[in-house]
Amino acid sequence: MPPDLTDTLVIGISSRALFDLEMENRIFEEEGLNAYADFQRDNEARILEPGTAFPLIEAFLKLNEKLKEHLVEVVIMSQNNPQTGLRVMNSIDFYNLSITRAAFSGGQPLGPFLKAYSVDLYLSKNMEDVQDAVDHGIASAQLYAPPEVFNPDADEIRIAFDGDAVLFSEDSEVIYKQQGLDAFLEHEKVFAELPLPEGPFGRVLKTLSRIKSLSDEKLVRIALVTARDRPAHERVILTLRSWGVTVDEAYFLGGLSKNQVLKAFNAHIFFDDQDKHAGPASEIVPSARVPYKTSSELYDNDAPGPDTSAEK
Ligand SMILES: [Mg+2]
Repeated sequence: MPPDLTDTLVIGISSRALFDLEMENRIFEEEGLNAYADFQRDNEARILEPGTAFPLIEAFLKLNEKLKEHLVEVVIMSQNNPQTGLRVMNSIDFYNLSITRAAFSGGQPLGPFLKAYSVDLYLSKNMEDVQDAVDHGIASAQLYAPPEVFNPDADEIRIAFDGDAVLFSEDSEVIYKQQGLDAFLEHEKVFAELPLPEGPFGRVLKTLSRIKSLSDEKLVRIALVTARDRPAHERVILTLRSWGVTVDEAYFLGGLSKNQVLKAFNAHIFFDDQDKHAGPASEIVPSARVPYKTSSELYDNDAPGPDTSAEK
């Protein structure tokens, strides 16, 4: 019988998001697929260094062990061919990561396969793959390069989310952009009791909240880190309440930089839809940008993300 993954958070992750494959990626871009494949085969036994999402993935897999439950499933999703993927699998063994499922699509777009693996969240460094996932209705984010120094907490998983256009829809933000701050604040006051519609990461938060509730121990800590401030905070709090979701911490920054809060929180990962927040944050904690719209919709607020190069 196939495993039931309904209550499991399934994370699809590219090999370049889990491990540092930047040098290898440059070989691919500059010298082509054959040179890249030769290099990977010649270096099959050389263990890869951790990449941006490594601390998060390692912490999630430890959580499974701690709670003796299969709460999070991690699947390697890569456009590599199976031959060149062997080095990645060897590195997974070396770090003792209990990742059993993998997809090496041999250059085929991954979007259609994400559904086949029941992926809830897809993390990659490649914008095209991330956009493809979003187009397939899957929460997805593009990772930045990791911070130079990052020491994750060993006992807790700490995840920080932006609010508008990440956990919540971008509807209110559109009012801010089109009509200004006063109109936005007035709108949020008037509609304070009307829950905000779910954004691209709303479901991920709900699943994490369920996982959190399984243990009395604080194993997962969630922070909302938003540019909203009073009085626009109320609608956010009432929305989370109506979803039956609690966050452990909420920072309403009203235009202050998010960096110091993220540093203090020491997030394993921070998700924000805007490069102007996620970019600077990525120098402090592992960070990712969440594209809001499918490619058939018009981008109006999307600065280019961290890296748009192809990923093998
Ligand atoms: Mg936002």
